[in-house]
Amino acid sequence: MTAEQKTRIAEFLDLAGAYLRSGYKSQTLTYQFADDESAAPMATEQAVPQAPLVETRPQAIAQSDKRSLAISNAEAGMDTLEAIAVDVAACSACPLCATRTNTVPGEGVSSPLVLVIGEGPGENEDKSGRPFVGEAGQLLDKMLASIDLSREKNCFIANVVKCRPPHNRDPLSEEIAVCASFLTRQIALLKPRVILCAGRVATQAMVKTTNSIKNLHGHFIECAKIPLFPMYHPSALLHDPTLKRPSWDDLKTLRARLDKLVALKA
Ligand code: SF4
Repeated sequence: MTAEQKTRIAEFLDLAGAYLRSGYKSQTLTYQFADDESAAPMATEQAVPQAPLVETRPQAIAQSDKRSLAISNAEAGMDTLEAIAVDVAACSACPLCATRTNTVPGEGVSSPLVLVIGEGPGENEDKSGRPFVGEAGQLLDKMLASIDLSREKNCFIANVVKCRPPHNRDPLSEEIAVCASFLTRQIALLKPRVILCAGRVATQAMVKTTNSIKNLHGHFIECAKIPLFPMYHPSALLHDPTLKRPSWDDLKTLRARLDKLVALKA
Protein backbone atom coordinates (compact mmCIF):
# COMPACT_ATOMS: atom_id res chain seq x y z
CA MET A 1 0.00 0.00 0.00
CA THR A 2 1.40 3.40 -0.93
CA ALA A 3 1.72 6.35 1.43
CA GLU A 4 -0.94 8.18 -0.56
CA GLN A 5 -3.42 5.32 -0.16
CA LYS A 6 -2.71 5.11 3.57
CA THR A 7 -3.20 8.86 3.90
CA ARG A 8 -6.57 8.74 2.10
CA ILE A 9 -7.78 5.91 4.35
CA ALA A 10 -6.65 7.75 7.49
CA GLU A 11 -8.40 10.94 6.38
CA PHE A 12 -11.57 9.01 5.62
CA LEU A 13 -11.55 7.24 8.99
CA ASP A 14 -11.12 10.59 10.68
CA LEU A 15 -14.13 12.04 8.87
CA ALA A 16 -16.22 8.91 9.45
CA GLY A 17 -15.37 8.96 13.16
CA ALA A 18 -16.36 12.60 13.42
CA TYR A 19 -19.64 11.87 11.69
CA LEU A 20 -20.45 8.85 13.85
CA ARG A 21 -19.76 10.79 16.99
CA SER A 22 -22.50 13.06 15.63
CA GLY A 23 -21.89 16.15 17.55
CA TYR A 24 -18.23 16.88 17.48
CA LYS A 25 -16.33 18.74 14.88
CA SER A 26 -13.38 16.80 13.63
CA GLN A 27 -10.00 17.87 14.74
CA THR A 28 -7.64 18.42 11.88
CA LEU A 29 -5.21 15.53 11.89
CA THR A 30 -2.10 15.19 9.83
CA TYR A 31 -0.98 11.74 8.81
CA GLN A 32 2.35 10.70 7.48
CA PHE A 33 3.15 7.22 6.24
CA ALA A 34 6.23 5.62 4.81
CA ASP A 35 5.90 4.11 1.35
CA ASP A 36 7.73 0.97 2.50
CA GLU A 37 5.21 -1.86 3.14
CA SER A 38 7.27 -3.22 6.04
CA ALA A 39 7.88 0.09 7.74
CA ALA A 40 5.80 0.86 10.82
CA PRO A 41 3.26 3.57 9.94
CA MET A 42 4.00 6.91 11.50
CA ALA A 43 0.75 8.65 12.26
CA THR A 44 1.42 11.99 13.82
CA GLU A 45 -1.67 13.58 15.20
CA GLN A 46 -1.57 17.30 15.53
CA ALA A 47 -4.33 18.46 17.81
CA VAL A 48 -5.32 21.90 16.66
CA PRO A 49 -5.59 24.18 19.64
CA GLN A 50 -7.71 26.80 17.87
CA ALA A 51 -10.46 24.25 17.14
CA PRO A 52 -11.88 23.05 20.46
CA LEU A 53 -14.48 20.29 20.36
CA VAL A 54 -17.87 21.83 19.80
CA GLU A 55 -20.95 19.87 20.76
CA THR A 56 -23.70 20.09 18.17
CA ARG A 57 -26.71 18.08 17.15
CA PRO A 58 -26.08 15.76 14.15
CA GLN A 59 -28.13 17.90 11.79
CA ALA A 60 -26.10 20.92 12.80
CA ILE A 61 -22.84 19.51 11.47
CA ALA A 62 -21.25 22.21 9.34
CA GLN A 63 -22.23 21.89 5.69
CA SER A 64 -18.57 21.84 4.65
CA ASP A 65 -17.94 18.87 6.99
CA LYS A 66 -20.96 17.02 5.57
CA ARG A 67 -19.86 17.65 2.00
CA SER A 68 -16.37 16.35 2.80
CA LEU A 69 -17.90 13.26 4.34
CA ALA A 70 -20.20 12.77 1.36
CA ILE A 71 -17.27 12.92 -1.02
CA SER A 72 -15.28 10.50 1.11
CA ASN A 73 -18.20 8.10 1.33
CA ALA A 74 -18.77 8.26 -2.39
CA GLU A 75 -15.09 7.74 -3.10
CA ALA A 76 -15.02 4.76 -0.78
CA GLY A 77 -18.11 3.25 -2.43
CA MET A 78 -20.02 3.53 0.85
CA ASP A 79 -22.73 5.98 -0.17
CA THR A 80 -26.35 4.80 -0.26
CA LEU A 81 -29.67 6.23 -1.44
CA GLU A 82 -30.86 6.11 2.17
CA ALA A 83 -27.83 8.11 3.34
CA ILE A 84 -28.51 10.72 0.67
CA ALA A 85 -32.15 10.98 1.78
CA VAL A 86 -31.04 11.44 5.39
CA ASP A 87 -28.60 14.17 4.37
CA VAL A 88 -31.28 15.87 2.26
CA ALA A 89 -33.73 15.78 5.20
CA ALA A 90 -31.15 17.50 7.41
CA CYS A 91 -30.07 20.03 4.79
CA SER A 92 -30.41 23.75 5.36
CA ALA A 93 -27.89 24.86 2.78
CA CYS A 94 -30.26 27.12 0.84
CA PRO A 95 -33.29 29.26 1.72
CA LEU A 96 -35.77 26.67 0.38
CA CYS A 97 -35.39 24.76 3.65
CA ALA A 98 -37.34 27.51 5.43
CA THR A 99 -40.57 27.02 3.49
CA ARG A 100 -40.61 23.28 2.83
CA THR A 101 -42.98 20.84 4.51
CA ASN A 102 -41.04 17.76 3.44
CA THR A 103 -37.88 17.18 1.50
CA VAL A 104 -38.30 15.16 -1.69
CA PRO A 105 -35.12 13.18 -2.35
CA GLY A 106 -36.63 10.96 -5.06
CA GLU A 107 -37.87 7.41 -5.45
CA GLY A 108 -37.65 4.39 -7.70
CA VAL A 109 -35.49 1.35 -8.31
CA SER A 110 -31.83 1.33 -7.32
CA SER A 111 -30.46 0.26 -10.73
CA PRO A 112 -32.66 2.17 -13.14
CA LEU A 113 -32.69 2.03 -16.88
CA VAL A 114 -33.83 5.65 -16.81
CA LEU A 115 -33.30 8.44 -14.29
CA VAL A 116 -36.04 11.04 -14.71
CA ILE A 117 -35.05 14.51 -13.48
CA GLY A 118 -37.55 17.30 -12.93
CA GLU A 119 -36.99 20.83 -11.69
CA GLY A 120 -38.33 20.57 -8.13
CA PRO A 121 -41.21 19.50 -5.90
CA GLY A 122 -44.60 21.16 -6.24
CA GLU A 123 -47.36 21.48 -3.66
CA ASN A 124 -48.41 17.80 -3.70
CA GLU A 125 -44.81 16.59 -3.63
CA ASP A 126 -44.01 18.94 -0.74
CA LYS A 127 -46.96 17.54 1.21
CA SER A 128 -46.17 13.89 0.50
CA GLY A 129 -42.37 13.88 0.30
CA ARG A 130 -42.62 12.00 -3.03
CA PRO A 131 -41.70 13.20 -6.53
CA PHE A 132 -44.20 13.75 -9.34
CA VAL A 133 -47.41 12.72 -7.56
CA GLY A 134 -49.72 15.57 -8.66
CA GLU A 135 -51.60 15.85 -11.93
CA ALA A 136 -48.39 16.32 -13.91
CA GLY A 137 -46.85 13.35 -12.09
CA GLN A 138 -49.78 11.14 -13.01
CA LEU A 139 -49.37 12.17 -16.64
CA LEU A 140 -45.64 11.44 -16.39
CA ASP A 141 -46.43 7.94 -15.10
CA LYS A 142 -48.76 7.38 -18.06
CA MET A 143 -46.15 8.65 -20.53
CA LEU A 144 -43.52 6.36 -19.02
CA ALA A 145 -45.90 3.40 -18.99
CA SER A 146 -46.57 3.91 -22.72
CA ILE A 147 -42.95 2.90 -23.38
CA ASP A 148 -42.80 0.23 -20.68
CA LEU A 149 -41.14 2.37 -18.00
CA SER A 150 -42.22 2.95 -14.41
CA ARG A 151 -40.77 4.04 -11.10
CA GLU A 152 -41.69 0.62 -9.67
CA LYS A 153 -39.90 -1.37 -12.35
CA ASN A 154 -37.03 0.41 -14.09
CA CYS A 155 -36.90 4.14 -13.32
CA PHE A 156 -35.79 6.48 -10.55
CA ILE A 157 -37.42 9.90 -10.33
CA ALA A 158 -35.64 12.89 -8.79
CA ASN A 159 -35.39 16.67 -9.08
CA VAL A 160 -32.58 19.20 -9.36
CA VAL A 161 -33.71 20.74 -6.05
CA LYS A 162 -35.08 18.63 -3.24
CA CYS A 163 -37.27 21.29 -1.56
CA ARG A 164 -40.27 23.12 -2.98
CA PRO A 165 -39.67 26.65 -4.28
CA PRO A 166 -42.39 28.95 -2.87
CA HIS A 167 -45.48 29.40 -5.08
CA ASN A 168 -44.01 26.87 -7.56
CA ARG A 169 -41.54 29.41 -8.93
CA ASP A 170 -38.54 28.12 -10.85
CA PRO A 171 -35.64 27.21 -8.58
CA LEU A 172 -32.91 29.87 -8.69
CA SER A 173 -29.55 29.02 -10.22
CA GLU A 174 -27.91 29.46 -6.79
CA GLU A 175 -30.37 26.98 -5.24
CA ILE A 176 -29.72 24.49 -8.03
CA ALA A 177 -25.97 24.89 -7.60
CA VAL A 178 -26.09 24.36 -3.83
CA CYS A 179 -28.36 21.30 -4.15
CA ALA A 180 -26.38 19.74 -7.02
CA SER A 181 -24.18 17.58 -4.80
CA PHE A 182 -27.19 15.42 -3.85
CA LEU A 183 -28.10 14.76 -7.48
CA THR A 184 -24.46 14.09 -8.29
CA ARG A 185 -24.34 11.46 -5.54
CA GLN A 186 -27.60 9.93 -6.77
CA ILE A 187 -26.33 9.68 -10.36
CA ALA A 188 -23.05 8.14 -9.15
CA LEU A 189 -24.98 5.47 -7.26
CA LEU A 190 -27.82 4.82 -9.69
CA LYS A 191 -25.67 4.67 -12.82
CA PRO A 192 -28.70 5.10 -15.14
CA ARG A 193 -28.41 4.09 -18.78
CA VAL A 194 -30.26 7.26 -19.82
CA ILE A 195 -31.20 10.50 -18.06
CA LEU A 196 -34.61 11.84 -19.06
CA CYS A 197 -34.89 15.56 -18.31
CA ALA A 198 -38.45 16.79 -17.83
CA GLY A 199 -38.74 20.40 -18.92
CA ARG A 200 -36.63 23.48 -19.52
CA VAL A 201 -35.32 24.12 -16.02
CA ALA A 202 -33.97 20.60 -15.44
CA THR A 203 -32.52 20.39 -18.94
CA GLN A 204 -30.81 23.76 -18.78
CA ALA A 205 -29.41 22.93 -15.34
CA MET A 206 -28.06 19.55 -16.40
CA VAL A 207 -26.67 20.61 -19.78
CA LYS A 208 -25.58 24.08 -18.62
CA THR A 209 -27.23 25.85 -21.53
CA THR A 210 -29.69 28.66 -22.08
CA ASN A 211 -31.08 27.02 -25.23
CA SER A 212 -34.87 26.57 -25.20
CA ILE A 213 -36.64 23.27 -24.54
CA LYS A 214 -38.32 23.78 -27.92
CA ASN A 215 -34.91 23.38 -29.55
CA LEU A 216 -33.54 20.76 -27.16
CA HIS A 217 -36.38 18.26 -26.78
CA GLY A 218 -36.17 14.98 -28.64
CA HIS A 219 -32.39 15.04 -29.16
CA PHE A 220 -29.85 13.08 -27.15
CA ILE A 221 -27.06 15.04 -25.47
CA GLU A 222 -24.03 13.46 -23.84
CA CYS A 223 -23.87 14.43 -20.17
CA ALA A 224 -21.02 13.03 -18.06
CA LYS A 225 -20.86 10.02 -20.39
CA ILE A 226 -24.59 9.31 -19.91
CA PRO A 227 -27.03 9.98 -22.78
CA LEU A 228 -29.39 12.74 -21.66
CA PHE A 229 -32.75 13.14 -23.37
CA PRO A 230 -34.76 16.35 -22.88
CA MET A 231 -38.53 16.35 -23.22
CA TYR A 232 -41.34 18.78 -22.46
CA HIS A 233 -42.44 18.83 -18.83
CA PRO A 234 -45.77 16.97 -18.33
CA SER A 235 -47.28 20.14 -16.83
CA ALA A 236 -46.55 21.92 -20.14
CA LEU A 237 -48.57 19.23 -21.91
CA LEU A 238 -51.46 19.82 -19.51
CA HIS A 239 -51.46 23.51 -20.42
CA ASP A 240 -50.77 23.09 -24.13
CA PRO A 241 -52.23 19.92 -25.70
CA THR A 242 -50.43 20.67 -29.00
CA LEU A 243 -47.24 19.48 -27.27
CA LYS A 244 -48.65 15.96 -26.87
CA ARG A 245 -47.88 14.87 -30.44
CA PRO A 246 -44.18 15.90 -30.42
CA SER A 247 -43.87 14.41 -26.92
CA TRP A 248 -45.21 11.09 -28.14
CA ASP A 249 -42.65 11.18 -30.98
CA ASP A 250 -39.95 11.90 -28.39
CA LEU A 251 -41.04 8.95 -26.26
CA LYS A 252 -40.78 6.66 -29.28
CA THR A 253 -37.26 7.99 -29.97
CA LEU A 254 -36.33 7.31 -26.34
CA ARG A 255 -37.75 3.78 -26.45
CA ALA A 256 -35.81 2.99 -29.62
CA ARG A 257 -32.55 4.12 -27.96
CA LEU A 258 -33.32 2.09 -24.83
CA ASP A 259 -34.01 -0.99 -26.92
CA LYS A 260 -30.60 -0.60 -28.55
CA LEU A 261 -28.86 -0.15 -25.19
CA VAL A 262 -30.62 -3.18 -23.71
CA ALA A 263 -29.80 -5.27 -26.82
CA LEU A 264 -26.15 -4.25 -26.61
CA LYS A 265 -25.97 -5.34 -22.98
CA ALA A 266 -27.67 -8.69 -23.63
FE1 SF4 B 1 -30.74 21.67 0.88
FE2 SF4 B 1 -31.41 21.26 -1.67
FE3 SF4 B 1 -33.32 21.71 0.14
FE4 SF4 B 1 -31.72 23.69 -0.60
S1 SF4 B 1 -33.18 22.61 -1.93
S2 SF4 B 1 -32.31 23.18 1.52
S3 SF4 B 1 -29.76 22.62 -0.93
S4 SF4 B 1 -31.94 19.94 0.08
